[in-house]
Formats: sequence, C-alpha cells, structure tokens
Amino acid sequence: MGRYVMLGMPGAGKGTQSRKLSQEMEIPHISTGDMFREAVKSGSPLGIRAREIMTAGELVPDEIVLEIVKERLSRPDVSRGYILDGFPRTVSQARELDSFQAPDAVIYLALSQEEAARRLEGRRSCGKCGAQLNIYLQESAEDSCPKCGGELVRREDDTPETVRVRIETYIRQTKPLTEYYREKGLLREIDGARGIGSVFENIIRSVKK
Ligand SMILES: [Zn+2]
Repeated sequence: MGRYVMLGMPGAGKGTQSRKLSQEMEIPHISTGDMFREAVKSGSPLGIRAREIMTAGELVPDEIVLEIVKERLSRPDVSRGYILDGFPRTVSQARELDSFQAPDAVIYLALSQEEAARRLEGRRSCGKCGAQLNIYLQESAEDSCPKCGGELVRREDDTPETVRVRIETYIRQTKPLTEYYREKGLLREIDGARGIGSVFENIIRSVKK
C-alpha cells in the first residue's frame, strides 16, 4: 500500500523496479510513457493531440500530461496506492501533483553519469521476439536472445550522442526535483548501481520505514 513516485537516472532500472514493487505491493504501476503510447494508438482526442505535438518534435506540454495523469489516478484500481513512473519530471509538475494528490514516498534510484551511460549503451532488444534486455546486466545475453535465440539489436535512440543528451537533460530537470522531495522529507535515495535483487531489497526496506 502507498502512493509512490519512482525517479532515477536513465538506465537505473525504473521500469524493472516499478514492476517488481507493483507485484509485491499489489498496486498498479503507472507508466506515463506507456500511457502516451496507448493513447496515441487508441486514437482518443487526447492521443491525437499528443501525436500532433510529438510529430512536430515538441515536448508534450504539462497540461496534457497532467490531464492524462489525473484521469488515471481517478480510476478505482488506485484506491490502495500506485507507483508513478515517468511523472513528475519537473518541479512544476511535482507541485501540480501535490495540489492534487501528494505521494507518500519518492524512490530515487541514483546512478553515476558514467554508469548510466554504460548501461544505456548496453541496452538491446531482440529482433525476433521483442524482448528487452541489457548485455551488461544479463550475462546470458551476450550475442543472442536468451529466450528465443534471435539476433539482438540496439535501440535506434541509443546512440552515444542521444544517450549523452538524455542523461544531461535528466540531470538538469531531476536535480531540482530530488531536492524538492528531499526538503519535504519524502526522498528515499537508493544505490541503483547494485544488482536488480539488491536494489529491490533496499527499496522495500526504505518504504517500510
Ligand atoms: Zn528473442
């Protein structure tokens, strides 16, 4: 139970840890990235607007993101809590969330810039079954998919240049956000450089405090 926000450097395992926490606590994992992709696919009025904005190469404005998040957080399945992944991204979004429904704790998966770059560089997807994995974190996944033996391909947006830009953007936006939650006493900083199991144990320990 509880309302959690998951923050972390790109490559720190936010998605993986959110899914594990969601199973453990039996509360929904709400990924704004997934919600956007679904809205665009479903062709809803909001999805159509979001697609137009993204096609123009612009960032989806706060009011649209907020509208989508608010709608999601008003559904009955969040009555016992939730894990928000991908929102808020900025202090102004965090303030909006607070005025609507403040989180109980904010889990921050910390990673050095070098480690984040290395991990993003190791991300691959299987060309055959679509499995997502990391050649640095999964030993069995060096040159072929451990599930189906398919060929592993790098994500198109994982070039060294885009990786650097994404990390810098993240640090610029997230640093003030972690400070915002630290001042409120909500930030639970976790060493994200450890293995998946160990990071998860530390998350559980920190939210049970
Ligand atoms: Zn595969």
